[in-house]
Amino acid sequence: MKLQVCAKTDIGLTRKNNEDSLYVDKEQGLFIIADGMGGHAAGEIASRIAVDTVRQALQTIDRANILEQLKHAIEKANRDVVKAANNNNSWKGMGTTLTVLLLDQQHGFLAHVGDSRAYCLDDDQLRQLSDDHSLVAEQLRRELISIEDAKNSGIGGILLQAVGVSSTLDICLKHIPLVAGEYFLLCSDGLSNMLTDAEIEHILKEAENLNSCCDQLIDAAIVAGGKDNITVIVVKIDKI
Ligand code: CA
Repeated sequence: MKLQVCAKTDIGLTRKNNEDSLYVDKEQGLFIIADGMGGHAAGEIASRIAVDTVRQALQTIDRANILEQLKHAIEKANRDVVKAANNNNSWKGMGTTLTVLLLDQQHGFLAHVGDSRAYCLDDDQLRQLSDDHSLVAEQLRRELISIEDAKNSGIGGILLQAVGVSSTLDICLKHIPLVAGEYFLLCSDGLSNMLTDAEIEHILKEAENLNSCCDQLIDAAIVAGGKDNITVIVVKIDKI
């Protein structure tokens, strides 16, 4: 497989630190985003531990059972964040989202917990591959609120589950057959809360190259208010 990748992170306009962590390994086809939460800079500790644990757990891949391996890696990250929080009082209650994409031969494998999103853009359409594990998304799914209510609900940041704070995780796992020419985008909610899917799609389609694509995504989120840390990983599959 031949692919291109570009990743960027930005603190945004209102936060004092950047609690997002990311990891990119082009050779292995491994891409990770984590968006941490917790006081006293604990959010960035949680997201960093989660990313490091998953990266280490996936150093060797057993091709027979990749989704199971991703699940185990996220469960290990959960235990590692809990353990670190138990060992340090100021880290109590810290947690993180965790979104992992592994591309291997003709296949993509996605595993995630929380609301850091994975999108795919094929010939014509942007699709969200991940489900947001957030209260607002759950209320939308159950049709308890409208999309308009959701935007103004003030519960946007409440997660139903997160690595480090949930004793059991319901990890979302997906197999995605790969198609040459398609794009993948992983992002923290600092992007997806600031831009609509249509705006994200427009930038992905029109950008001259991946570097400019990442710059434009981050700039657009900042122009829209930059209320949170913004992290993006954009991958283009040139050839299967
Ligand atoms: Ca965030």
